[in-house]
Amino acid sequence: MTLCFATNNVHKLEEVKALLPESFTLLTLQEIGCEEELAEEQSTLEGNSYQKADYVFKNYGVPCFADDTGLEVFALDGEPGVHSARYSGPASDSEANIKLLLKNMEDIKERQAQFRTVITLRTPRKTKQFEGAVKGKILKEEVGAGGFGYDPVFVPKGFDQTFSEMSAAEKNSISHRGKAIEKLVNYLVTHENELT
Ligand code: IMP
Repeated sequence: MTLCFATNNVHKLEEVKALLPESFTLLTLQEIGCEEELAEEQSTLEGNSYQKADYVFKNYGVPCFADDTGLEVFALDGEPGVHSARYSGPASDSEANIKLLLKNMEDIKERQAQFRTVITLRTPRKTKQFEGAVKGKILKEEVGAGGFGYDPVFVPKGFDQTFSEMSAAEKNSISHRGKAIEKLVNYLVTHENELT
């Protein structure tokens, strides 16, 4: 089966490729000729991942899956959530996003949060969503140099290091995205004959 992963992030693509059996061919957006930026106009992670997968499926005729991720801070009513990438402004600046988050949490003692990923799979016969989440807490300052986004301020529950301090393999094995991808791959492998 041929599937498009609606992302331009090579690392995400490799992560999924490594888990899929050879009967699946994974194509990038570039490989199907989709060069436009995919709109994310919805107010939820579910809505945005559906919008992207559905757009690619309808416009390029290729079965597709798309992901959307947010950091949800419980004391901030789930913010930055769906706005995580552009929390501090349109530039998608991780340093500025972290700075704003820490400022907005200055007086907050309850620092629990979660990363949540929603993947939407859109094929001719099935549309399905898969969720992965990892709970943890937000530190008062950045620790570690690796990773990306909010990694330097997020410590997953049961650990004493931030995502930034972990190796990519260790982070992937417990992360929101890793869990959602695992569910997607299990579904694809067990339902391959029902999708097209
Ligand atoms: P995306 O949907 O994967 O593009 O993620 C949206 C935003 O959430 C990113 O721009 C990051 O700010 C944040 N984010 C997503 N995944 C992670 C992660 O694994 N660590 C830290 N931040 C993340």
